[in-house]
Amino acid sequence: MPTHEVTNQPSELDAYNLYESDPVLPEAVARHGARWAGEQLSSFGAVVGTLEVREWGRLANENLPILHTHDRFGNRSDTVEFHPAWHSLMALSVRNGVHSIHREADARRGSHVARAALMFLDSQTEQGHGCPISMTSSVGATLQAQPEIVAELQTLLTSRQYDGSFAPMADKTGILLGMGMTEKQGGSDVRANTTLAEPIGSGGPGGEYLLTGHKWFVSAPMCDGFAVLAQAPGGLSCFFLPRWTPDGEVNRFFIQRLKDKMGNRSNASSEVEFDAAWARMVGEEGRGVKTIIAMVNGTRLDCTIGSTAIMRQAVTQAAHHVRNRSAFGAVLVDTPIMRAVIADLEIETQAATLMTMRLAETFDRADDDEGSALLQRIMTPVAKYWVAKRCSAVAYEALECLGGNGYVEESMMPRLFRESPLNAIWEGSGNVIALDLLRAMKREPEAVDAFVAEIELARGTDHRLDTAIDDLKTTLSSEISEAELRTLIEKMAIVLEGSLVVRHGSQALADGFITTRIDGNWGRTFGTIPKSTETDTLVDATFVT
Ligand SMILES: Cc1cc2nc3c(=O)[nH]c(=O)nc-3n(C[C@H](O)[C@H](O)[C@H](O)COP(=O)(O)OP(=O)(O)OC[C@H]3O[C@@H](n4cnc5c(N)ncnc54)[C@H](O)[C@@H]3O)c2cc1C
Repeated sequence: MPTHEVTNQPSELDAYNLYESDPVLPEAVARHGARWAGEQLSSFGAVVGTLEVREWGRLANENLPILHTHDRFGNRSDTVEFHPAWHSLMALSVRNGVHSIHREADARRGSHVARAALMFLDSQTEQGHGCPISMTSSVGATLQAQPEIVAELQTLLTSRQYDGSFAPMADKTGILLGMGMTEKQGGSDVRANTTLAEPIGSGGPGGEYLLTGHKWFVSAPMCDGFAVLAQAPGGLSCFFLPRWTPDGEVNRFFIQRLKDKMGNRSNASSEVEFDAAWARMVGEEGRGVKTIIAMVNGTRLDCTIGSTAIMRQAVTQAAHHVRNRSAFGAVLVDTPIMRAVIADLEIETQAATLMTMRLAETFDRADDDEGSALLQRIMTPVAKYWVAKRCSAVAYEALECLGGNGYVEESMMPRLFRESPLNAIWEGSGNVIALDLLRAMKREPEAVDAFVAEIELARGTDHRLDTAIDDLKTTLSSEISEAELRTLIEKMAIVLEGSLVVRHGSQALADGFITTRIDGNWGRTFGTIPKSTETDTLVDATFVT
């Protein structure tokens, strides 16, 4: 049609290397002990940045998983059918060890950092498949409490071959794991779980049980096994519940329905009933929360990684659009007001990336370094709380940079936006995370000392940050009430990010962050940064095709 001339519309963002183009990630990876992973990260960054993988992400979210509760003859089948694009995404992640690189027999020091970077790259293209990938990584930590179970599963758990078949473990080339804690009457409050575990024989750690009850949220129910909480005679305990029993029978794990979720749509999240389902106890009877906390910590790290990834992808898409769209005679990115928005989003995203990678390093060191273990105890809730909350604000503002195009599904921005609140809810919603921080501070005051030691490393670099550190130390040494907890956790996150940006960020990032987030020269929306900000450097840091 002669009227159909398309002008002033940006082209699709080309294929690009998500690792090499990141302004802070490669340096953070090297700094925190995973320089050796650079080559793999670079090639993975190139693959997940291809148009083909991006297309898998779109297809997996537009062709939703389908639950088959029964076969055509009326027998229960309890299987979930996925679009081939889902399987392609899963196979790519598994092939690169995003689920396992830190648990493999030859895992190197720094492998948590390497995995965090892989997960960060992976999650920029598609987030839903990251759920079973993340849970497999984290449930593995909880299973360590029962070494004979780990020994049985180790080869399959660390296999780099994706096997999406529904089959007994003996017939599989690789397995994936999920978890079931949340019930109808209590999610955060897992002690309210009513699922009952009856021992077969004497029971106890490693012993066999039959579980009867329900789970209100079980994501990725096609996984091969689940860490589950249930009430044993001696109290709430942790169990490993496989989809198939060791006798090769399908376990009594009945998927009732799939959730109709606002985001994370490629991933199946289900409601499940257990009817005398076979399971083995993991860890001590009555210490289920203590046992499953290793998994919880791992997924909290992944919530932080996932949120940072959404922020990075959203800002990349926004920067690409404003570089290629004009309005009122100017390319958008050349307008001072749009430059301020992009620069401010970039400050938030780089700071979140630095904090996420530093947190990942504590996971590498926690086993043999007391200081890292203590720092991890405080830093996990602080980073998870803050980055997961900032994610939605960044995703929204980045979406708006695309104008009406950002509100249209094809742009990917609605998907990023709908995904953005999930990491804040998952694995401890805001209040629960803040209360966890308070508990840690009370039970392990040395962990607060480790946190203070971390932020003190930046002392002397900027007097405004020094003042903020002093203020925070005063607050930390006083009695904290529950009502003040959100104020405290916010301050801790911002000062921690401040300490990282002045030590490891560019001058533009450090100045921009400290002036706005620490010194208070900032408004209530992105783009309210002072004129003195080195906007050019920050805008130039975003990926340019
Ligand atoms: C997409 C998706 C997938 C999921 N997948 C899984 C899964 O695979 N396995 C699984 O076990 N769960 C899963 N969940 C469940 C999720 O972990 C829970 O929804 C979450 O832990 C919150 O629990 P809840 O929904 O019962 O909310 P509640 O615990 O009822 O919390 C509601 C609100 O109250 C606040 N709150 C809770 N306790 C307190 C308190 N003491 N003081 C003040 N405020 C408080 C919370 O912060 C929250 O804002 C999934 C959820 C979603 C959305």
